[in-house]
Amino acid sequence: MPSAFGFRFDNTYRRLPEALFSDCTPQPVSTPSFVLFNDDLARELGLDNKALSTHPEFFSGNALLAGSEPIAQAYAGHQFGNLTMLGDGRAVLLGEHLGRNEQRHDIQLKGAGRTPFSRGGDGRAALGPMLREYIISEALHALNIPTTRSLAVTATGDPVRRETPQPGAILTRVAASHIRVGTFQYAAGQQNPALLEQLVDYTIARHYPELDGAQNKALALFDAVMDRQIDLVVHWMRVGFIHGVLNTDNVTLSGESIDFGPCAFMDNFDPNTVFSSIDHQGRYAFGNQPTITQWNLGRFAETLLGLIDDNVDTAIEKATASLKSFSQRYEEKWHAMMSKKLGLFASEADDGKLIADLLTWMQTRHADYTNTFRDLINDGLPDGEQYQDESFQQWHQQWRARLARNSKPLASSLCLMRNHNPAVIPRNHLVEQALNAASNDNDLAPTRALLETLGTPYADRDSDDPYRQTAAPGEQVFQTFCGT
Ligand code: AMP
Ligand code: MG
Repeated sequence: MPSAFGFRFDNTYRRLPEALFSDCTPQPVSTPSFVLFNDDLARELGLDNKALSTHPEFFSGNALLAGSEPIAQAYAGHQFGNLTMLGDGRAVLLGEHLGRNEQRHDIQLKGAGRTPFSRGGDGRAALGPMLREYIISEALHALNIPTTRSLAVTATGDPVRRETPQPGAILTRVAASHIRVGTFQYAAGQQNPALLEQLVDYTIARHYPELDGAQNKALALFDAVMDRQIDLVVHWMRVGFIHGVLNTDNVTLSGESIDFGPCAFMDNFDPNTVFSSIDHQGRYAFGNQPTITQWNLGRFAETLLGLIDDNVDTAIEKATASLKSFSQRYEEKWHAMMSKKLGLFASEADDGKLIADLLTWMQTRHADYTNTFRDLINDGLPDGEQYQDESFQQWHQQWRARLARNSKPLASSLCLMRNHNPAVIPRNHLVEQALNAASNDNDLAPTRALLETLGTPYADRDSDDPYRQTAAPGEQVFQTFCGT
């Protein structure tokens, strides 16, 4: 295994049948230079971060790391409900790096030029959206939420044509893998059961080795993927994250969050919140994320039917029974998560009502989701005009009475709450300001300061800390864009 800068490539996906990918080298750019390099992540991956940070050419496609065997992956996907052939249209997988403890990581360049799957696109990416992916993915990671990571953003020196010309950039994405529900949809469409079975075996070996030898491995895989997807969406609901484009090509089998286009964090609590400019029906609204995750899993189940049972009716019966358990499993995990946000130990019959009442109050009073929960971590009634409200105070009294009946002392509750309610999130207006400064004025200072803050989201911060403030009237962000 050749090695440079600590990279140890072992490219197993490339050994799968050729139908699943195309060999594809990244296209060189004019003048590669690092905009951001993630030192911490490089170290975590066992890479020589010092040496690498002076070699942007390896993160732009101008030079190829030893051991890399670049490919573009084939996949399909239901986009807003319609099945489409997709594939990596602007991303190239350099290979799989074996990091510490032999953990396997895909190293991918996003925005690396045209591929056989580019369709009409230019294969490139603009700086703003790549910085957005870097900021949001690293923020989710610091929030303890499974996600792909960002190792670098490299400026290309070449403008890209969007609505207006934009500086071009490439993101180096690090992922447990890039196997998606859409990868299975693509494989199922090849009318080759052996190919699909190989993909199942590969996914189990890579992400669910404990399922090796399961009696019905396709069904076992389906169930295990459902578990991870439920955990993921519960995490998103915990921090108010709205993915924005939950198409089946953006659902990973590893259970990591992926693809940060028009994603955003909710400010005031409202399940109907949508930011994405292309989501006209609210399909991917905050409160729809569990339902749409179940729908996406339904599409995943369809690809597996032939492997679940030879008899199609039996296969449908088994898959349906599993899929139907989604709602109850989700509700249980969501309730457990919300209980932690409120510092509740054990459980009482009325806890569900206590949670629901607070959410109702937040929705009617347009209260900030993040700040309300964080403000509750307080010895008495939280400071702030919004809490002078009578219905809030009644709720607060009930909640404190419930805490008094907890099996553990108040300090334990407050500690639990501190670990589940972030003080800072990537607020949309701050992200927007940082991206504008970077793209328009070549000023990375706001981005760096934001990243620094988002690195410790659960640390205590004063209520007047600028990163905890909601957007001032002129600063509000109402819409976010894919920027592809
Ligand atoms: P996304 O919205 O990022 O999930 O992308 C959906 C599909 O469009 C994927 O197949 C992408 O590879 C492809 N795509 C997005 N932007 C471009 C681009 N600039 N050039 C080529 N393909 C693209
Ligand atoms: Mg995608």
